[in-house]
Amino acid sequence: MKVLVPVKRVVDYNVKVRPKADGSDADLANLKMSINPFCEIAVEEAVRLKEKGMASEIVAVSVGQEQSQEQLRTALALGADRAILVSTDVVVEPLAVAKCLQKLCAREEPDLVLLGKQAIDGDNNQTGQMLGALTGYGQATFASDLLIQNSEATVVREVDGGLQTLSLSLPAIVTADLRLNEPRYASLPNIMKAKRKPLETVTPEELGVNVALRTNLIGVKLPPDRQAGIIVEDSRQLVDKLKNEAKVI
Ligand code: AMP
Repeated sequence: MKVLVPVKRVVDYNVKVRPKADGSDADLANLKMSINPFCEIAVEEAVRLKEKGMASEIVAVSVGQEQSQEQLRTALALGADRAILVSTDVVVEPLAVAKCLQKLCAREEPDLVLLGKQAIDGDNNQTGQMLGALTGYGQATFASDLLIQNSEATVVREVDGGLQTLSLSLPAIVTADLRLNEPRYASLPNIMKAKRKPLETVTPEELGVNVALRTNLIGVKLPPDRQAGIIVEDSRQLVDKLKNEAKVI
């Protein structure tokens, strides 16, 4: 079974992002970048499938700038076998990423595409779903458990108020939620080995994909500072303030 794992380069989750002085975008200069945490969970799940003898090959894919090679090397150090960079300097939207992945699915014919449920930079939560629509593969999003048996994937999904279990025939698309697993750290020997694993570069044009933006970013700003709270004397005053000042009742 071949597993394709799309990984995105994002600002590290520990970094507090600020807008640029002119508010035109987030200021990403000199910030620490990492693999999107949900993509790391997807890589870990693919590696576990390989360790259980269910997956034979793991291919990590990233769509983005040359620097995304760093995140692909991390995926290789975690256990992916080879990597593909779809290299572009343009900011890519989920639909463009999904179209590139669709072309790679046609070429690579994976049995399973394991994505993160969402990228923590744009919080889009769209790419897996769009890839499902473009490829026609069955999809199960927000996975907290995954079992592969007899060309079928059984996926437990975290939905509002409970868990839902779905069965899908392969090839299928699964997006990883937080509780699917706890990713391992890459060991030093594996980081060294990853440098020699194959990393291919293609461009969206070579895949026949137009990645031009369909939306314009108008501005970015921080939420307003929270006002200091007050202590009310009794419930009567609380009700009065909620009614006449906050006007919520
Ligand atoms: P999003 O729809 O942007 O929230 O991203 C959901 C998932 O799609 C991510 O966790 C990745 O697995 C995948 N993805 C999104 N953008 C990219 C990208 N530029 N390159 C590779 N995978 C991506």
